[in-house]
Amino acid sequence: MQIAVLGAGVIGLTSAYYLNRAGHQVIVVDRHGEVAAETSFGNGGQLSYSYVAPLAGPGVLSKLPAWLARRDSPVRFRPSVSAEQWLWCLKFALACTRRRSNLTTRDLLALSFVSRTLMHQFLRDEPTLDFDFRHSGKLVLHRDPVAMQGAIDLLDFQRSLGCEQEALSADECVALEPALANVRSRIAGGIYTRSEDTADCYRFGKGLEAILRARGVQFAMSTHVDALDVAPGGHIVARSGTRVLEADHVVVAAGASAPRLLRPLGIRVPVYPLKGYSLTYPLGPQSLAPTLSVTDFARKVVYARLGDRLRVAGIADLDGYSLKTDPSRIAALRAEAAWLFPQVAAGHAETAEWAGLRPATPRGTPIIGPTCYRNLWLNVGHGALGFTLASGSAELLAGWIDGRPNPSLSDLFLLAQ
Ligand SMILES: Cc1cc2nc3c(=O)[nH]c(=O)nc-3n(C[C@H](O)[C@H](O)[C@H](O)COP(=O)(O)OP(=O)(O)OC[C@H]3O[C@@H](n4cnc5c(N)ncnc54)[C@H](O)[C@@H]3O)c2cc1C
Repeated sequence: MQIAVLGAGVIGLTSAYYLNRAGHQVIVVDRHGEVAAETSFGNGGQLSYSYVAPLAGPGVLSKLPAWLARRDSPVRFRPSVSAEQWLWCLKFALACTRRRSNLTTRDLLALSFVSRTLMHQFLRDEPTLDFDFRHSGKLVLHRDPVAMQGAIDLLDFQRSLGCEQEALSADECVALEPALANVRSRIAGGIYTRSEDTADCYRFGKGLEAILRARGVQFAMSTHVDALDVAPGGHIVARSGTRVLEADHVVVAAGASAPRLLRPLGIRVPVYPLKGYSLTYPLGPQSLAPTLSVTDFARKVVYARLGDRLRVAGIADLDGYSLKTDPSRIAALRAEAAWLFPQVAAGHAETAEWAGLRPATPRGTPIIGPTCYRNLWLNVGHGALGFTLASGSAELLAGWIDGRPNPSLSDLFLLAQ
């Protein structure tokens, strides 16, 4: 079958990969001249298979007033007149229960474990692809003893879902990751997960593009999809200007822009942009940078070594679709990096600064599967976990289109839940 995938971010590219492997003719369409040019460009580089708990959790609503009052808070909310934003916030608030958060964590872990298996299979299938992939392991640091105890209390729940994690004292954290020596006296401890990976999402996307082109997948780049039209017979076609992109099936993998494409068809996906920032520090051969992937839990900042660079990412701002970088947010992220890794973050004027829009759903679960139109499919709403969940989501989608949806996952990520 001929399949048009709308969006050349990590979700569209992995969808194209698994659809091509299943024997379909695929065309990938994107408004940019290059793949992975939006949210998949500068993300945190975490393949965080065991850390998938949603932002909407039981403790979040009580923390929000303190977060919103601080200028350097990891979360910021700029109220707008958009009903879309307020509806999203309402659904987010309703999802902040222990029960909902545990269910979401369970569903996301099921998808992330499939994604991990597929990513490791991908590495065996495509051994020449270099995208700074490392089996890095991950250390989630806690500054505060109460938060550390809370994390220890959660270990049994995580273990019951298949996550292998261990609690470490501050000394053990420094022994495992010597680059943390500066903050030894200021951390309470950490949770170590050996099985986590890191990689460069943009380089992964570029590598996938090369593989796909070599296998005959077509790319219509610099092509803005203006609308999805209903053709006679109820068939959906994508239109760019006067060009109609004929295909048997259409997959929407348009990230944070998906709602705008789908709304005219009467399909409302609860996806809203959650803006984040990243910094990329160049490293010299002697740089005392972390080799482990590190998360500063209190500040919601992640650190990943990507080849000879250190990627620092964080911040969640609910302030619409603008991609403009706010200097105060960049400064806040720089200050976090300088606190944890002063030996890397001090005085690098050439650091790359970036902002991107996480395509977030209120619950934190992506939307993968069919729509009310027979030939229109969704693979959207991966929020803060798009790189982590991409392979599993893409394989699940390809199975749906081939009429063999994965029986253990297919019901979990439907639009109508
Ligand atoms: C600061 C930050 C840190 C993050 N860190 C991590 C991390 O460590 N690990 C992780 O797993 N995830 C992380 N994420 C999330 C992850 O980056 C996203 O979930 C993922 O990139 C989303 O991929 P996507 O393909 O859905 O969207 P995108 O990458 O945005 O791709 C969508 C594509 O659709 C195209 N498009 C949209 N509309 C149209 C149209 N009308 N016509 C043509 N083309 C169109 C766009 O041009 C774009 O290329 C992070 C995100 C941010 C912002």
